[in-house]
Amino acid sequence: MPGETQQRGSVTLDHIESARAAIAGQVCRTPLVPAFSLSSDRRQVFLKLEILQATGAFKLRGATYALQSLSPAEKARGVVAISTGNHGRGVAYAARLLGLRAVVCMSRLVPQNKRAAIADLGAEVRIFGESQDEAEEEAARAVAEEGLVPISPFDHPQVIAGQGTIGLELREDLPDLDSVLVPVSGGGLIAGIAQAVKSASPRPVRVIGVTMERGAAMHASQAAGQPVLVPEEESLADALGGGIGLENRHTFAMVRDLVDDLILVSEEEIAAAMAHLYWQERTVVEGSGAVGVAALLSGKARDLGSKTAVVVSGRNVDMTAFTELVAARA
Ligand SMILES: *Cc1c(COP(=O)(O)O)cnc(C)c1O
Repeated sequence: MPGETQQRGSVTLDHIESARAAIAGQVCRTPLVPAFSLSSDRRQVFLKLEILQATGAFKLRGATYALQSLSPAEKARGVVAISTGNHGRGVAYAARLLGLRAVVCMSRLVPQNKRAAIADLGAEVRIFGESQDEAEEEAARAVAEEGLVPISPFDHPQVIAGQGTIGLELREDLPDLDSVLVPVSGGGLIAGIAQAVKSASPRPVRVIGVTMERGAAMHASQAAGQPVLVPEEESLADALGGGIGLENRHTFAMVRDLVDDLILVSEEEIAAAMAHLYWQERTVVEGSGAVGVAALLSGKARDLGSKTAVVVSGRNVDMTAFTELVAARA
């Protein structure tokens, strides 16, 4: 996965800059804060707090840009999203602002707190099957029979460009950034960020993806050299579940060409990172949002240089389960 080539991949820096102008004022420009509990004399660590988005996760960026970019005819038809929860919430939120109909298809693996938040935003929630791939069948049916416009959670140029706006903010806030740790599922987040921090950057930035050991579809696909299916399993990082699509058009190639390393973390490492973020940084983060910190604390992330940013991607965790988890690790 060489990172030297500038502007590889289907979503360019120009596209990400357009996304930024389009969503300014609709999404939060999140702060990048120093994390002293993770820093040392040799390495400064900063947290990019995407947990502060109105929907509790970065996915609002891509969803807002994708929905704004629809034609008037498409807007009239309404949209359908498949989601592990946070994309659905972003789409539901953006659809409500724009006055569009939104249907969100999810599997039974999506936690109840995430389903309820989506319904509260006025979207129609459809629970279907035991995996993200099965929920996708229901979404495909809604496209064919109800004329809804599909909004992929990751393999969609506007979604990737929207998530990439995080990379533009990182470059501005920390021009001498050496590395960035990014949670990975379908790869929209890391593809956009990698394009933004690598193209037109005067210095090389290492972009490192982190995902859970259980059901890591992007990791298995990169190892196989093509998109492959992996069984979906329950994980603390529930937002990282699901496949990358056997017909993947954008994120597989962008991750292959732009991402320097992909790291896997265990359930226990994710739990330890959630507890660390809570007790040391006073921050509530869901499992998927804590995998970057898990890679740091476990020592699995290497060659980070002296300034590292960690994307803390979401906070939509069930609070009863969360308080039990952190209390057990006090
Ligand atoms: C969706 C999600 C990710 C992964 O994003 P991809 O673009 O699918 O790789 C990471 N963290 C959280 C909290 C998410 O909701």
